[in-house]
Amino acid sequence: MSTLALAFDLGGTELRGALVERGGDVVARVSAPTLAGAGSKAVIGQIITLADTLLKEHPQAKVTGIGMCAPGPLDPKAGIVIGPPTLAGWHNVPLIDILSRQFGLPVRLENDANAAALGEWRFGAGRGTGSLVFVTVSTGIGGGVIADGHVYHGRRGLAAEIGHMTITGEGDRCFCGAVGCFEAVASGTALGRRATRLTVPGDGSLLRRLSNNGDVSARHVVEAARAGDVAARGLVKAEAQWLGIGFTNLLHLYSPDLIVMGGGLSNGFDLLAPTIRATIEQRAMQAYRDVPIVPAELGDRAGLVGAASLILWEGEPGTALAMVQNDETTTGAREASQG
Ligand SMILES: [Zn+2]
Repeated sequence: MSTLALAFDLGGTELRGALVERGGDVVARVSAPTLAGAGSKAVIGQIITLADTLLKEHPQAKVTGIGMCAPGPLDPKAGIVIGPPTLAGWHNVPLIDILSRQFGLPVRLENDANAAALGEWRFGAGRGTGSLVFVTVSTGIGGGVIADGHVYHGRRGLAAEIGHMTITGEGDRCFCGAVGCFEAVASGTALGRRATRLTVPGDGSLLRRLSNNGDVSARHVVEAARAGDVAARGLVKAEAQWLGIGFTNLLHLYSPDLIVMGGGLSNGFDLLAPTIRATIEQRAMQAYRDVPIVPAELGDRAGLVGAASLILWEGEPGTALAMVQNDETTTGAREASQG
């Protein structure tokens, strides 16, 4: 069996673990509902249990290290989870120290959005590019930037907080306290809220029928728009305009080869794309307008495989495409070593 990494994606609702190969293939997966209210010791206990399960089920696996992603803020270099809003009782937890002592393996840590950006870059929609911006649009908006073959970290690893760039002076207050954040106007939550305000329970609209007369969610809007509902189509257009404005900023700031859109709302990517594109045509300077905007390919495993690549691709600026090309030139040697 080839060299593997143990990977963990620690989320506020679900803790996922996997054994991942260097090419990004997931050999085995496990998960558990995160004990998010129980404090860091309980959750670290869950990580250890899941790791033991994976290792027992695959005793022949050659595991070279543990790649881990968790919600920010965290310090990837020091290996410290600083204090995510979705996990109670986590305050400056030295996660790398704890796990490397437990398992006697190297451990690497990255925030979840950066790990997903790494995953899409090395194994997904961004293969073969040198620079990309990954944007996840769901409950909130997050992202990660790969700049010239590396995750762009900035001071204290806090770069690319895409959801909180200010793009308007109006609208609902963001959970961060500010008005006009990208996330506050363009997240799936914001789209659902606009749809809820546009309709009333019992009005017979498709949006309210899909939501059983409860609050309308972004998923309902996409579903109604797909069915040709005029109100939903208008909401999707307005949503795509906000996304187009945010993406224009990202093009001007980072000059990526590609913008990759993930998250729950990327299920409606085909409906959003024409207006996103048109908005960029209107707003971006000429030199930035031909950059492709594409949907993510890896779904909810982007973070896991990206985290695994922290171990399996450590120090390498390459992507899976480059690896395939390298492999073609070294196949003979590899076959010899396997024989
Ligand atoms: Zn904000």
